[in-house]
Amino acid sequence: MQTIGYAAQSATSPLGGFSFERRKPNPNDVAIDILYCGVCHSDLHQAHDDWGGSIYPMVPGHEIVGRVSAVGGDVERFAVGDLVAVGCIVDSCQHCDQCHAGEEQLCREGVTVTYNGRERASGNPTYGGYSQHIVVRQEFVLSVPENLDVARVAPLLCAGITTYSPLRHWGIGPGSRVGVIGLGGLGHMAVKFAVALGAHVTVMSRTPDKEEDALALGAEALLVSTDDAQMAEAANAFDLIIDTVPVKHDIKPYMPLLDIEGTLVIVGQIGDMGDFNSLPLLMGRRKISGSPIGGIAETQEMLDFAGRMNVLPDCETVAMPDINAAWDRLAKGDVRYRFVIDMATLTAE
Ligand SMILES: [Zn+2]
Ligand SMILES: [Zn+2]
Repeated sequence: MQTIGYAAQSATSPLGGFSFERRKPNPNDVAIDILYCGVCHSDLHQAHDDWGGSIYPMVPGHEIVGRVSAVGGDVERFAVGDLVAVGCIVDSCQHCDQCHAGEEQLCREGVTVTYNGRERASGNPTYGGYSQHIVVRQEFVLSVPENLDVARVAPLLCAGITTYSPLRHWGIGPGSRVGVIGLGGLGHMAVKFAVALGAHVTVMSRTPDKEEDALALGAEALLVSTDDAQMAEAANAFDLIIDTVPVKHDIKPYMPLLDIEGTLVIVGQIGDMGDFNSLPLLMGRRKISGSPIGGIAETQEMLDFAGRMNVLPDCETVAMPDINAAWDRLAKGDVRYRFVIDMATLTAE
């Protein structure tokens, strides 16, 4: 199947039009006409080869929403015309303990990522959602509640599940006390989901200027992390702190804010975390964890929950030809809070 998209040809080239083939749908495959694709910060990192091993040409995009255009003969859960989504992963081994437990994102044999990866059978590169069509095996296709504003659904597939999963894993519900560090694409979704689950939510930021935004998203307070008095007052005040800041920073000041048995979970890629003091962990049996996206079943649960509670990201729609300018703005943090590409603006040149 011939299709078009936008690709990076190298670590230094801007995105540009690219014509390529999608595989002919296998009996177990779903073919999708893409309507919208979210712009994730990791798209920039991978296109620029910041993490090494990037495959070019690269068609980024792992927050995909579209309609089913064709299904293989063995597909029973989806029909032509269904509103569906695809997130960060498109395949896994399907037989290890993690896959059997619905934790495909933790597959022992490694997942197949939606772009900048290789298909398990053919070894061909995977191409993502900055394109008109995609073909995905049915186990990795999700149903989108029809009541949701389709132009805003896409970021749920990465930013949404990345924050929903730890909230569910640590049992957040009515009365839980949740802190959210950082108020970008991930942080604003963490606030919205935690509020929708009934938690008391506090945004933590280095400066007070995000207060209005934090309260507008449903948080009850903004805690200024550079204000020693505020930080001391917040000791033992949280059951869970979700750290969404994707660059190196010191997590030590946040540990005393956790109550006994509390957890700080890191969902951004920080890399080397520098020195660390064990005392706050010992005195309070506190925990530090990390968390990647979520499994397919949990991702479906998240979409259904978003449908019931009408939880959606705040988005700015961009046209495909304007993607390089959008990336420049994203690199500067100049978006509230997620860009979504309208794929109707992608045309053959
Ligand atoms: Zn992402
Ligand atoms: Zn597996």
